Amino acid sequence: MLIRRHGSFACIILIGVAVYSLMGFILLKDWITIRPEWGWLNWFHEAVQARSLAYKGTVLLLQFMVLVIVARTVWFALHLLLSHRRSMNRLLAGTPDLTQYNIPPSVKKVLSYPVTIIHSENLSAFAEGWFRPRIVVSTGLLSTFEPEELKAVMLHEQYHCRHRDPLRLYMVKVLGRSLRCVPMLQGLVDYYIIWDELCADRYVLRHMLSPEGLAGVLLKWSASGRSEQPVIGAAAAAHFAPTAMNYRILQLLEPGRKLDVPLLKLWKAAATAAGLLFLFMMSIDVCGL
Ligand SMILES: [Zn+2]
Repeated sequence: MLIRRHGSFACIILIGVAVYSLMGFILLKDWITIRPEWGWLNWFHEAVQARSLAYKGTVLLLQFMVLVIVARTVWFALHLLLSHRRSMNRLLAGTPDLTQYNIPPSVKKVLSYPVTIIHSENLSAFAEGWFRPRIVVSTGLLSTFEPEELKAVMLHEQYHCRHRDPLRLYMVKVLGRSLRCVPMLQGLVDYYIIWDELCADRYVLRHMLSPEGLAGVLLKWSASGRSEQPVIGAAAAAHFAPTAMNYRILQLLEPGRKLDVPLLKLWKAAATAAGLLFLFMMSIDVCGL
């Protein structure tokens, strides 16, 4: 389970680093010079150079695409971050005196991260903060759940805090949205998010005496219709629900069962590999002129 979670995260970051590095070579070709001695690149060089007009057009088109992708990345990164900040500031400023809402002592003693309460009738719980994460819960959640259920929610969010998931989710979502041209990336992002949720639930089950608390939460949450996220641009936070609810319920009902989460379609992996290879050859070729 952890291998799937860490493996998919590593793949997303590696693909992102590879694509942006190769795009950097193409964009800055006039300032970078590479003279590879690899004979196996010659056939590619001769094949593309033979069509000089098409070659120049392809390079110009690639440079234009790179500029668009870089602009999209900056836009998504800033948009998600600023929307998240604005939502958090609004929620915290609009939160009245909450002294009547208390975290039960049995829940408090298992927590090693600060908890912030926000005023909202929705059922909301999420981890936020990149380097000093905290757990945020809504008043609607505190007044709906029993202490054992609250404990399950808090432990789930504690897992996200421990693994710096707000930062990880921000990174993978920005990459997934910016690099839509990489066919397998969004599938990998979805796969990672599902396993992240399953690992957080598994952490809850390990730290609680019985699965009833988590079962109660999942059932009430699914039935409530009050799970709207209060934070816009929620990519900068790790929310509790409703992601991957079917797999999470299945894991709860049959803890020993091997979950079959579809990874991605073969053609998407093949198209991504072919695209990366083409980008690699073009970047070497344009820098070797
Ligand atoms: Zn979660």
